[in-house]
Amino acid sequence: MKWISDLIDLIFPRHCHVCGEVLSRQEQDLCLNCLYKLPKVEKMHLDEIETVFWGKFNITSATSYIYYRKESPYNRLLHKMKYGNHPEIGYRMAKMAAESLMESGFFDGIEAIVPLPLSKKKKRERGYNQCDYIAEGLSHITGIPVLKDCVMRNKSNETQTHKTRDERWKNVEGIFSLTKPEQIEGKHILLIDDILTTGATLTSCAIAIQQGCNCKISVFTLAYTYNKI
Ligand SMILES: [Zn+2]
Repeated sequence: MKWISDLIDLIFPRHCHVCGEVLSRQEQDLCLNCLYKLPKVEKMHLDEIETVFWGKFNITSATSYIYYRKESPYNRLLHKMKYGNHPEIGYRMAKMAAESLMESGFFDGIEAIVPLPLSKKKKRERGYNQCDYIAEGLSHITGIPVLKDCVMRNKSNETQTHKTRDERWKNVEGIFSLTKPEQIEGKHILLIDDILTTGATLTSCAIAIQQGCNCKISVFTLAYTYNKI
């Protein structure tokens, strides 16, 4: 029913999350111009992402889709996904990311997608876990199943932003525990987070998993900050 969606767009115009332009019926989240200029991670930094985890746990492979740069208007997209009750942005961005990654062979051999969990308290407050949506978007394209309850977060560490690098690492030690190790035992899993900065939270989760299970771990994050905070 084209005329109904046209009418809804007329009464409640949707706007590009990045530049604020009114979206046409074919556009979602981003106008074509902003979609075209999406700051995708370049090859040189793709190679660098894996090295963030070297020496911390046994990593198989790691990748990210776009840059998270201070002052970039594209941060609005990630902010709305995470805090603005628009987790569907994560789902759709992850689908685009998976489509562009499929040919590279990045997903070959991966048997399960595991989104980084939020603490129960944080999930109740926010109403959703954005990483679940990112995981589902990847799964939609790759067909790899999502496992949401094999690991849990015992406490929240959402106040990382104002901490120093050392404080960040101390703050996340031991915050994850395995709940259903049998689900992932012996598997190659893909661990999901929204934004990669120091990699402290992902590392903490990966260590908890590899202490309890014999797992290969790869990492996917929607965004990557290469000039680390
Ligand atoms: Zn735009």
